[in-house]
Amino acid sequence: MTVQELAGSLAVPETEIIKRLFSKGIAVNITETLDIAAVRMVAEEMGTEVETPEVTSEAVQVTEMLDAQDLDNLQRRPPVVTIMGHVDHGKTTLLDSIRKTKVAQGEAGGITQHIGAYHVDVEHEGKSQQVVFLDTPGHEAFTAMRARGTRVTDVAVLVVAADDGVRPQTIEAIGHAKAAQVPIVVAINKVDKEGAQPERVKQELTEYGLVADDWGGDITMVPVSAIRGENLDTLLEMILTVAEMEDLYANPNRSAKGTVIEAHLDKARGPVATLLVQNGTLRVGDIVVAGSALGKVRAMIDDRAARVDQALPSFAVEVLGLREVPRAGDEFDVFQNEKEAAAIASGRATSQRDSRLLQGGRISLSGFSQQAKEGVLKELNLILKADVQGSLEAIVGALRQLPQKEVQLRLLLSAPGEVTETDVDLAAASNAVIIGFNTTLATGARQAADQAGVDVREYSIIYNLLDDIQGAMEGLLEPELVEEPLGQVEVRAVFAIGRGAVAGCYVLSGKVIRNCKVRVRRGNSVVYEGILDSLKRMKEDAKEVNSGYECGISVNGFTDWAEGDIIEAYRMVTKRRTLSA
Ligand code: GDP
Repeated sequence: MTVQELAGSLAVPETEIIKRLFSKGIAVNITETLDIAAVRMVAEEMGTEVETPEVTSEAVQVTEMLDAQDLDNLQRRPPVVTIMGHVDHGKTTLLDSIRKTKVAQGEAGGITQHIGAYHVDVEHEGKSQQVVFLDTPGHEAFTAMRARGTRVTDVAVLVVAADDGVRPQTIEAIGHAKAAQVPIVVAINKVDKEGAQPERVKQELTEYGLVADDWGGDITMVPVSAIRGENLDTLLEMILTVAEMEDLYANPNRSAKGTVIEAHLDKARGPVATLLVQNGTLRVGDIVVAGSALGKVRAMIDDRAARVDQALPSFAVEVLGLREVPRAGDEFDVFQNEKEAAAIASGRATSQRDSRLLQGGRISLSGFSQQAKEGVLKELNLILKADVQGSLEAIVGALRQLPQKEVQLRLLLSAPGEVTETDVDLAAASNAVIIGFNTTLATGARQAADQAGVDVREYSIIYNLLDDIQGAMEGLLEPELVEEPLGQVEVRAVFAIGRGAVAGCYVLSGKVIRNCKVRVRRGNSVVYEGILDSLKRMKEDAKEVNSGYECGISVNGFTDWAEGDIIEAYRMVTKRRTLSA
């Protein structure tokens, strides 16, 4: 809807709409088209409900990369694999090891270039097939992208160290893969180590619903040694076997579409983005829009550091020629003409900006409390970061003691350290609240949290932390409104006016504001609490009156003023809890 149309249907002047949007930081003109989020915000503020045919919000919508037209041209594409697992279980080593053993062989000096993804060739069922690995560190790529609704991973390899077993991030990774409905292949790593107990890993994984196929389940588990490069071929074969069960098809005979895997600004080359092609073929010269960044593909470099002219489905290439740096997880599309592309890019820039302003749907502890009260939410997801392992154990132990009849606590991650941007991504992806205990926020984490609408709570006293969480679970947590004192006023005379009364006052300190909250004290007791209705200065209506001045005050429903009453003026403000809370 345009601003004009919206004003028409709400029967208000256009300027009203413009003003309301402006106060939210969105500048528009009368003919501008507003997106649904903006329309909803304005309309609901004005008491009008908005119905949209689509109920799923854009944030959780998984884009279908295939269109109906593609169906006649489908060809199989290689699987795109993400490696996940607990820190130090060997994800990086496994990625490096696969790359080294598979890529170095026979290829021009074995040179590879880090672009965020690489592919390997695997002999499988008599044919040479490819597997593409995303090697964006950790599962940042996975969580950040899922938070935004993009799905790039076809198979998840879950690395579990045989000498350490299932750990918090293992469980979290399983949760992510299941939520995204991505099949899992387990790599039981470090089997070379003394104390390696692969069978114990299998045992532990059964608790999370992953049963090894040799135990009668349907999950392939491969013992490997990433560091010695042992059994990697079996792992790759298993990945391909699992991938065969999936519908991995694309239409190479169309313009490309896919997802930004990584992007940065290079001093010499300008914006550089690694694009994973998920459908179609990307070519040099193509006009692309990646997120809100427009550009023309000037050059493409593949994971073997070679310049290439085209990239087929499931392959990633580093692309030069974008005018801005897109964000990892942004989708990209190719357009036939630049004008259309430019319009799409600027439309996306606007909607990105608005959606940042209008982040809804994320959970906060007090929001959760409300929903728990209404019986809507049954699970509270938490991410816990603390200064040291000892505090973590204490907190986790105490959390376990909380009654969980109505609401279940799900600890997605508990780890020592600062609250990082990755934690924020994970929280956003899984609708979790982040709890920081005696720890700080890493650079950028607060900003990321604000942008994603993630609630980050900091505590220094375990009791407060438990109290809040229990409160939230029981639906009792009050919204975080705190009182901010404005000023003190003394009643010096009382004037009866009609059936009401006006207190003639003197502002002792601070100030008093029309419509602020007031509490009337007489001696030690509070005789009235409510809202200040009328504030006059020299018989004229006043917005506020400062200390040292006289004024007339009246409130609705209270006339029993007495000389010497003290009026405390205050207002309620929402406040983020701090360490001292
Ligand atoms: P990540 O945090 O999951 O990426 O783990 P890394 O790949 O950084 O590995 C953590 C540590 O485990 C490193 O010191 C590796 O050398 C070691 N490591 C990784 N794989 C193996 C393995 O197969 N055997 C042994 N013995 N050590 C391994």
